[in-house]
Amino acid sequence: MSIFKDIRGALELLKQVDLKQLSALSRKVDLGAAMQQLSRMDEKQLQGLMKMLNSSGGKKELPEINPDFYELSDKLTPEQRALQLKVRDFMETEVAPVVNDFWLRDEFPYELIPKMGQLRLAGITYQGYDCPDLPFLMEGVLAMEMARVDSSIATFFGVQSGLTMGSIYYCGSEEQKQEWLPAMNRMEKIGAFGLTEPEVGSGAAGGLTTTCKLTADGWVLNGQKKWIGNATFADVIVIWARDEADGEVKGFLVRKDNPGFKVEKIRGKMALRIVQNGLITLTNCVVEEKDRLPHARSFKDTANVLRMTRAGVAWMAVGCARGAYENALAYTQTRKQFGKPIASFQLIQNHLVEMISNLTAMQTLVFRLSELQDLGQLKDEHASLAKVFCTLRTRDIVRGAREVMGGNGILLDYNVARFVADAEAIYSYEGTKEINTLIVGRSITGFSAFV
Ligand SMILES: Cc1cc2nc3c(=O)[nH]c(=O)nc-3n(C[C@H](O)[C@H](O)[C@H](O)COP(=O)(O)OP(=O)(O)OC[C@H]3O[C@@H](n4cnc5c(N)ncnc54)[C@H](O)[C@@H]3O)c2cc1C
Repeated sequence: MSIFKDIRGALELLKQVDLKQLSALSRKVDLGAAMQQLSRMDEKQLQGLMKMLNSSGGKKELPEINPDFYELSDKLTPEQRALQLKVRDFMETEVAPVVNDFWLRDEFPYELIPKMGQLRLAGITYQGYDCPDLPFLMEGVLAMEMARVDSSIATFFGVQSGLTMGSIYYCGSEEQKQEWLPAMNRMEKIGAFGLTEPEVGSGAAGGLTTTCKLTADGWVLNGQKKWIGNATFADVIVIWARDEADGEVKGFLVRKDNPGFKVEKIRGKMALRIVQNGLITLTNCVVEEKDRLPHARSFKDTANVLRMTRAGVAWMAVGCARGAYENALAYTQTRKQFGKPIASFQLIQNHLVEMISNLTAMQTLVFRLSELQDLGQLKDEHASLAKVFCTLRTRDIVRGAREVMGGNGILLDYNVARFVADAEAIYSYEGTKEINTLIVGRSITGFSAFV
């Protein structure tokens, strides 16, 4: 009777065995001898062996890294999603391999400009002039994709597409738009935006000291502009100056070969090192009337451009945070301490969950921000709130990302250190935390607390 029981048991076992695997195994080891050895082991020894095999042999299936936790990209149309992935691919194949080297050398990868031009994306939301005429949502999504790999390249693009082309699109004449926008879309011409001065940053609205004066030869500009991104190689620089006659701020398109225009590269930055920031000096710089932006009549018009681009900076902060989070999470899944991946430790998971919580809140916020923008309902305080919230949280996220990577977190090669440094500049440009807070504060209380 017991022999039949044994045969039945063996047949049941055979059903569970993959015969192909068994024959492959028999080519590698003497299965008969192995069976004899195993049958001599007691239950405890067998359990130990199984535990060992499971922990060393069986590779754990890990979930895909997904920084879009609430699947906000589902809101995009298939065409928009395809464009997002196209820009992601460009950033990962063209930019990522070279970016740390250029960052370290404080130089710009000029050879990328024609390649970026081929994407034909600059001036994303503008209609006509060979511009893409896409919704503001896509301007945000693409800024995020660029900053996810490198915030300097995203900043370069933002200065070109948002600040400079935006000034021309919103404040320029038809001739100025025809001259500059198509060429800037192809990136055959590069632009810069000069508002900040050495002594006037946050107080630019009422305090610009750069002057313009209408003379028989044209407009004469005098003064200095500090921090101007792309200025060292730009073909055209939008200069904001106060009219000596009526005290209003006016905008000018200053060409790089103008004899009164001089630019000096700002060296020694610890953030956004790829962005070429310049200190501009204008000495009796004569600009023809045809190069004055006719629809820039006061600082209100400058502020209209800044409102648009500030929303884009909030998206860039999301991208910066996303890049740091993705790299840090991947690292924790493979880095082992005490014999286990550090991602399996509770305290590390706490950091990671804090990061994805903040990131999810930021992404949800900027998606709604762009919806408001596309509905034509964006107000200064909307853009300011998003800029403050996202840049603050980005600082937390990149700091957390660095922390979970231990010492490697400060090495450029591990692709988090650069995000930590760059987050500092994004936090301060296009309106500091304090200035954007005051804009929101004024909106909710009815009291202006600027001074
Ligand atoms: C990398 C980088 C790129 C940039 N690119 C450009 C560019 O392309 N074009 C351009 O025009 N500018 C550019 N900027 C300038 C940028 O916009 C300014 O740095 C920013 O507006 C802050 O001005 P500030 O640095 O002069 O600081 P300040 O205005 O001197 O501020 C110093 C501190 O005082 C605080 N503060 C000021 N006023 C108040 C107040 N009323 N109440 C409370 N606190 C206050 C500020 O929040 C800040 O913390 C760039 C800056 C950087 C760092």
